[in-house]
Amino acid sequence: MSTIFEKIINREIPAEILYEDSVCIAIRDVAPQAPTHALVIPKKPIPRIGEAQEDDVETIGRLLLVAAKVAHAERLDNGFRIVINNGDHGGETVPHLHVHVIGGRQMSWPPG
Ligand code: AMP
Repeated sequence: MSTIFEKIINREIPAEILYEDSVCIAIRDVAPQAPTHALVIPKKPIPRIGEAQEDDVETIGRLLLVAAKVAHAERLDNGFRIVINNGDHGGETVPHLHVHVIGGRQMSWPPG
């Protein structure tokens, strides 16, 4: 069973694509938690960061670099937050690794 993110990568369902390369895709989140909310998703279907393997290290590095590129392109000059939810307690709802890029408002700490 493919996840919703695999379907977006394969163009089986639509999304607003902000960036794409051979390793990952960045889309706008359909239920934004801030004025800017993007997701950076590897094309390889790694279920979650807790299950990433040693040979995923370049992919994971790429996700973070692309997250920063997206933040720059979205003009989040006053700052932004990068989030990876992992498992039930982490708040993960889609079992395909993704990096949230959230900005455009003041973030609080600790996160909810
Ligand atoms: P998480 O809860 O960390 O697994 O994040 C999943 C994210 O995917 C949530 O922020 C959802 O709003 C987002 N999402 C789910 N379906 C779609 C979709 N079709 N297009 C864009 N974002 C989506």
